[in-house]
Amino acid sequence: MLSFGKTDLLRMQRTNYFIGAGGLVLGLVLHCAVLGAWSVNLILLQSAWVLIFVLMGIGLGADRLSLKWTGTAAAALAFLGLTGFILLSGGANSPYFHILIALPFLQAVYSPDSRLPAVVGGVSSLLAILLFNAWGGVPLPKQILTVTSFCIFLGLALYGTRMYRHILHSHVAAHQERLRALERLAESERLRGEAERARAEVERLVLVGQLAAGVAHEVNNPLAYVKANLSYLQRETRGGGGTLGREELQEMLDETQQGVLRIQQIVEDLRGFSRAGTSPEERGGLPEALSEATRLAAMRLHGGEVVLELPSGLPMVRLGQRHMVQVLLNLLINAGDAVESARPVRRPRIQVRVRREEGGVRVQVEDNGPGIPEAVLPHLFEPFFTTKPPGKGTGLGLALCREYVARVGGTLQAENHPGGARFVLLLPEAPGLPVPVRMPRDEPWLTR
Ligand code: ADP
Repeated sequence: MLSFGKTDLLRMQRTNYFIGAGGLVLGLVLHCAVLGAWSVNLILLQSAWVLIFVLMGIGLGADRLSLKWTGTAAAALAFLGLTGFILLSGGANSPYFHILIALPFLQAVYSPDSRLPAVVGGVSSLLAILLFNAWGGVPLPKQILTVTSFCIFLGLALYGTRMYRHILHSHVAAHQERLRALERLAESERLRGEAERARAEVERLVLVGQLAAGVAHEVNNPLAYVKANLSYLQRETRGGGGTLGREELQEMLDETQQGVLRIQQIVEDLRGFSRAGTSPEERGGLPEALSEATRLAAMRLHGGEVVLELPSGLPMVRLGQRHMVQVLLNLLINAGDAVESARPVRRPRIQVRVRREEGGVRVQVEDNGPGIPEAVLPHLFEPFFTTKPPGKGTGLGLALCREYVARVGGTLQAENHPGGARFVLLLPEAPGLPVPVRMPRDEPWLTR
């Protein structure tokens, strides 16, 4: 639909007044040419009328005059000008008398946005018709018919302007309603975004909470030998030393330092993952994400192992690092939980196979758990679907994972294999250089 602003309306009205002035000049020239006589009075009257119309047009075009009042003034002026013209050209017998009847129509056409010009033109024309008829001695029945037909015309003209305004108002109302609907849509979109961010945040914190239980266990291990080494060194130095050789001493210090570094790594990983924020990056490297996710997952996979098949020269993928860690961590934790619930009890063994594929990378996470029951499979990625007891599962993990992955054009599918469940993640390649395989050195739960 075309949008028609106030400037367009003013320009159109200006043109209307100029056309009106042109019509008046043409009428005068025709009148004089046909009759073969030039009346000074008529020329003066018509010139004044033309001049005022031109000035009105200029004033309107420059937005210096009000549309409504100019229209009304033009109606009064047209009435006066026309009455004068009729008077000077034969009164009731003037060839222009019928224009008096058409005047309200003209005004209605020229200023349809307001009723006033048509009313002013109509009432004054009616008075003029009555006066001319009385002055010209027109018989009463003819007068009655003239006035009646004029009133019908006037009524139609007013009805026309009313219809126009009605249509205009409904257009404006529809436009405003559209704007309001758009505003509401934008607001609900904003709220949806906020809710989505909050949901993602909750799920991330739930993951952190799930890991927290394993942190003590993870930290305790290196802490135990750091403590033991330090007590031993203390005893050695207190007793004057000497029993330990330089090499043994170096080895012990190295071991202690590794333990401290391990604890530092655990704390940093947890802190990094629990830090609030979105994943603004548009690409990430799988080796780093896998390494971080397995380190974090180790806090839950007590004694379990993650077997990695990670080829070198993998391209960067479109999923941001933070989301990628979250997706992988979710799959690993779910796998760990599934194996934990399996009977007979077994040690978790999660196989992660990464393979380059046409246009992306395929990550396959297989566990040795009980597999996914057939009834559960269709609901796996539904938000809030969980088979875990309250407090342990939210049912949001896989739904969010699939959402993150789908957003960048990837897929996440689940299926069973003979020895457990298998999740297949396909991530599209991000344009850029391949990432080198960089694995942390001291990660006993990781085999390759
Ligand atoms: P949550 O872990 O909070 O339950 P998820 O969306 O991550 O939510 O998982 C939904 C459900 O999918 C889990 O409750 C579980 O029943 C099932 N599931 C996920 N991973 C596995 C798996 N590796 N083996 C068997 N079932 C699984």
